[in-house]
Amino acid sequence: MGFRVGRSGARLVIGKASVLMAEKRLMRQASARQSGRVSQRLTAAAVAIISGIAASPVPATAADPDYAAERAAMIRTIATYSAEVSLATGRDRIGEEVLEAMGIVPRHEFVPEDVRHQAYADRPLPIGYGQTISQPFIVAIMTDLLQVALNHVVLEIGTGSGYQAAVLAHLARQVYTIEIIPGLANGAAQRLQRLGYANVATRAGDGYYGWAEAAPFDGIIVTAAASQIPPPLIQQLKTGGRMVIPIGAPFALQHLVLVEVDDERKVRTRQLLPVQFVPLAGQH
Ligand code: SAM
Repeated sequence: MGFRVGRSGARLVIGKASVLMAEKRLMRQASARQSGRVSQRLTAAAVAIISGIAASPVPATAADPDYAAERAAMIRTIATYSAEVSLATGRDRIGEEVLEAMGIVPRHEFVPEDVRHQAYADRPLPIGYGQTISQPFIVAIMTDLLQVALNHVVLEIGTGSGYQAAVLAHLARQVYTIEIIPGLANGAAQRLQRLGYANVATRAGDGYYGWAEAAPFDGIIVTAAASQIPPPLIQQLKTGGRMVIPIGAPFALQHLVLVEVDDERKVRTRQLLPVQFVPLAGQH
């Protein structure tokens, strides 16, 4: 029996063992509906990934209490996958600095004890409250698409475990992150502080409205699926800034969308990849 987190794991929708049959059906339906070469190539890429590599978790041992070997294997997996989606993302490969950041952040510190042995497998994992820490590959893609620079100020919606915020903290000057479930927000705040992430500010609240006092942001990353791009987030994005956000109905096929605001404040969106995320909660 393959591993499953339920229907809420944030991940790229590809045909690996962990992907539910229902998701595969959704993807086939979506592929059939969509004509056009990019869609066809993306499906081909997904098929290529099915038959390809998978993270091979090596449990931490007394000699490797930091899971260094597992983390290195995760990075190799991400690097290999990234070529398969390059046509869809428009990025040749995941940037070295993103891989380096993910090679540093101790993902095992961000997951509950009972799933720690799976921390570096390329799959979402439960973090309590019915939520998940996203699949490493989707974290890498979303972070890479943001094109974060060292002087950037970045906003994340959906702190969850705090893992994505920690990855961003290695790449940006300042990270702001908002989580709607107070228990998760508190847990992530304590974890990030304990691990020394001094450039991450956390808040419990509804991220739909952004963080107006800290705006504008060079980049905004939303790690829960919205039915539409929240207007407050567009307003809080700098001219020339980028937002990466999953868009689609709850628990249906969604798409990762790249949003860019040009010099005249015109908003350009590009639908990149089929994904599945937990829904953006709250009354909007
Ligand atoms: N980025 C997280 C990490 O690294 O662990 C994983 C995020 S998880 C896929 C999505 C998170 O978004 C959940 O923790 C969920 O509670 C949160 N969320 C959902 N709706 C939200 C909202 N309106 N504002 C803020 N957070 C929200």
